[in-house]
Amino acid sequence: MSDRLHFLGTGDALGVPRVYCDCAVCTEARRSGLNRRRRSSVALEADGSLLFIDCGPDFRSQMESLDLRWLDTVLITHAHHDHIGGLPDLADAARWVGKHPRVVAPAPVIPEIVARYPWLPRSQDFVEWTPETALLGYQIHTWEVCHGKNGRSWAYRFERPGFTWVYCPDSIRLAEPEWQPMQGADLLVLGTAYYKEDAPALSRSVYDMNEALDLLALVKPRRAVFTHLSHGVDRREAYPLPPHVTVAHDGLVLNLSGAPEPMASAPASMG
Ligand SMILES: [Zn+2]
Ligand SMILES: [Zn+2]
Repeated sequence: MSDRLHFLGTGDALGVPRVYCDCAVCTEARRSGLNRRRRSSVALEADGSLLFIDCGPDFRSQMESLDLRWLDTVLITHAHHDHIGGLPDLADAARWVGKHPRVVAPAPVIPEIVARYPWLPRSQDFVEWTPETALLGYQIHTWEVCHGKNGRSWAYRFERPGFTWVYCPDSIRLAEPEWQPMQGADLLVLGTAYYKEDAPALSRSVYDMNEALDLLALVKPRRAVFTHLSHGVDRREAYPLPPHVTVAHDGLVLNLSGAPEPMASAPASMG
């Protein structure tokens, strides 16, 4: 069976619907749920095991959506609330189960997490990423990426014979040394908060889809999937995207295999 990538959450930092918001997308998300988005996280399933990338405040419902009772390993992209806010819930579960999950992160991220939640190391094992880090049959590489006005984040590249994919939910204005390691990927999962934002790029923290298409022209992934979507993205909308680019939604599952996959029709429209 081929490895699989589960999109557990595809929302931006506030999720969709936003608690305060009555816009058309948030209203639809409340009523029918097409645009309902938990905070961004994916689960990689391979080799009979599973790991999460990021553990945001929707961690509990994401565990339930996969009918999981335990999680061994979490990789963290950066220490923002929407990516680590579920770690205290995981720690509480760990105390009851009597096991320690591994929280793997780039070295600079670990003290940032512990500064926010000083009790976590009592029930979670923090493991610094090293160039030798390999999990679920994948060699794993990580590097710092520009997160605009919100500082910095890290991207992850997963390589095994026959398939390479990259996860980069929070980035913008990447310089060549930051996008170069994305090249040659069969799949790039990239954060894009809106289709097109009016605010200048320097005032923002995540790509919009238009800017992301410029990045894709440089990186040339075989396939790209946009995630970390705000209430500015409406799945009922037919965004003009090339056929190898699609918009993710909560519950999407991709098979990670070298064989070309049948491509969904370009927009994630349910019409
Ligand atoms: Zn984020
Ligand atoms: Zn962030």
